[in-house]
Amino acid sequence: MFKINDNYLKLPGSYLFSTIAKKVAAYGEAHPDAQIIRLGIGDVTQPLAPAIIDALHGAVDEMADAKTFHGYAPDLGYEFLRNAIAKNDYQDRGCDISADEIFVSDGAKCDSGNIQEIFSVDNKIAVCDPVYPVYVDTNVMAGRTGVYDPAAGTWSDVIYMPCTAENNFTPELPKETPDIIYLCFPNNPTGTTITKDQLQVWVDYANKVGAVIIYDAAYEAYISEEDVPHSVYECEGARTCAIELHSFSKNAGFTGTRLGYTVIPKDLKCGDVMLHSLWARRHGTKYNGAPYIIQKAGEAVYSEAGKAQLKEQVAYYMKNAKVIYEGLKEAGHTVFGGVNAPYIWLKTPDKMTSWEFFDYLLEKANVVGTPGSGFGPSGEGYFRLTAFGSYENTVAAIERIKHL
Ligand SMILES: *Cc1c(COP(=O)(O)O)cnc(C)c1O
Repeated sequence: MFKINDNYLKLPGSYLFSTIAKKVAAYGEAHPDAQIIRLGIGDVTQPLAPAIIDALHGAVDEMADAKTFHGYAPDLGYEFLRNAIAKNDYQDRGCDISADEIFVSDGAKCDSGNIQEIFSVDNKIAVCDPVYPVYVDTNVMAGRTGVYDPAAGTWSDVIYMPCTAENNFTPELPKETPDIIYLCFPNNPTGTTITKDQLQVWVDYANKVGAVIIYDAAYEAYISEEDVPHSVYECEGARTCAIELHSFSKNAGFTGTRLGYTVIPKDLKCGDVMLHSLWARRHGTKYNGAPYIIQKAGEAVYSEAGKAQLKEQVAYYMKNAKVIYEGLKEAGHTVFGGVNAPYIWLKTPDKMTSWEFFDYLLEKANVVGTPGSGFGPSGEGYFRLTAFGSYENTVAAIERIKHL
């Protein structure tokens, strides 16, 4: 008789966004005339930029001709894309990362979920609280997190690093020493970030205690302030302690197109074993490469035209962020984020719980956001709105909230 991986059964409740979708669907059925505005899930809404569309068309045509047809992609990604990434995202910023340390994939969610399998099940993970749920849930599936405490919403073998208004949403070094530290800046869900000096403290700490930092830079393109690092490799010593995850989803609208990459420097070792070798082996065995067409589209992200167009696209969303941030402030809310990230994180008013505020906004304003408690116990009492809607919807939603 087969047995299942019963770690899956330990996962509590259903995925946050399916719960939200069910609530919104139920409300919509009961109120068919309601004009619901969704500022909940972190999905982009603007079309792919023209430079990317051109690259896609060109690549599709290549696939139609035997002379230019492409079959399986190289396991770790096409050289043209890895070179463009190494140059634009790293070398031009003074980061010492080479093309052969870059692993192209179909997205950062998959990589952030899969990366844990090259580590022993005995490793202890540390996560920010609130946190992008994928980091924790994939470690639950692997059997690395111990026992769940439903009342506290925490796992016995996970180190939680609370990020709240009290510490300016910056995690403090944990008292208990972790083996793997997940960091995401600019942060989803709080929309806040840390300075380069603050990140350097984490890099120094990881090197000192022999931990690995898994640094999720999915929102790097939204950074507007000078002293905020675009990459963990801007910090000295990061080559021996940090893995970095990138996505084309938020900077270039690839949420449905699917492309991302992971960086593992060759200096990152456990004894004399390079993590780079393990991930290369994993990629080669379990993954057959992101599609050629999509990697060509990814290359266009780094073209002059692509860069200019995407700068505008990011500016479009950040204009929404400003509308949300300032509108909520005017309405008397306590608001965070929205300056270096497309997320606004607000304190729920009148001591409402996150889900109470969710229901209140849905019913009174027909606006959908995301309850902070869905991202971890320290998210209770907070609420996330995204800047990924259309400008018109964003303005309309904030007007409704102002008039509550
Ligand atoms: C959106 C997001 C990603 C990107 O995931 P993709 O799979 O590349 O679409 C990664 N990490 C965080 C924290 C995100 O919010």
